[in-house]
Amino acid sequence: NEVLRLDRLEKGYNRGKANEIIVLRGASLVIPRGQVVALVAPSGAGKSTLLHIAGLLDTPDSGRVIVNGQDLTGAKDAARTVARREALGFVYQFHHLLPEFTALENIVLPQLANGTARKAAEARAQELLARVGLAARAGHRPSALSGGEQQRVAFCRALANRPALLLADEPTGNLDPTTSETVFSALMELVRATGLSALIATHNLELAARMDRVLRLSDGQLVEAK
Ligand code: ADP
Ligand code: ADP
Repeated sequence: NEVLRLDRLEKGYNRGKANEIIVLRGASLVIPRGQVVALVAPSGAGKSTLLHIAGLLDTPDSGRVIVNGQDLTGAKDAARTVARREALGFVYQFHHLLPEFTALENIVLPQLANGTARKAAEARAQELLARVGLAARAGHRPSALSGGEQQRVAFCRALANRPALLLADEPTGNLDPTTSETVFSALMELVRATGLSALIATHNLELAARMDRVLRLSDGQLVEAK
């Protein structure tokens, strides 16, 4: 029972040109359901490239991408979009919340887009906000929240539609060390409470060590670091 399988991914840019760069050289991984995996690598090693492929935003030159049991390697855009919406949750370094909507609405809107009734969507949003200690901030717009609070709302939004897998690219990269710690703990609690699987890119080795497994991206391949 696995939520993500990446099989021998190859990916390069500017193929055949003088500035050709090969980023992935046979990168493979399997994430079983419920596992939280850290992805560590220096800047430029290809973490974003790998997350974009796993997140169905980009396609590999070769290799296979299987999300939640579905082989989406050669799938059409429509099928990839459905899989993204139903199976995947995304968190970025910057929160990307909609500024004109409240914290609650930011978590409700993706649920409405997915066909959830408003009442149920609001209840789900309130429950998620309570889990990250933000029940009292539901009616605030992002600009009225601190950086750490904004990022916690972004986690709630990513989990709103109950994805099988959370993909996160440096989710605490924009925060100071203390806030980063609080926000990371909130994310882990949320992930554990919902039994979610996750692939989380981070530079922070201390945070990485608190996940179930650490993978290092090295010379275009994924190797176990723990
Ligand atoms: P990381 O997220 O680990 O910093 P990236 O996946 O963003 O690494 O990038 C890996 C390498 O591929 C870098 O050298 C980057 O400059 C290069 N790269 C990424 N995207 C493109 C692109 N669209 N065109 C050309 N080169 C790219
Ligand atoms: P992030 O900054 O969030 O890690 P990326 O590093 O992947 O995101 O870069 C953001 C965008 O810029 C992506 O669409 C990527 O394809 C593109 N990009 C990254 N590096 C290069 C590069 N060296 N040349 C051209 N495009 C690039």
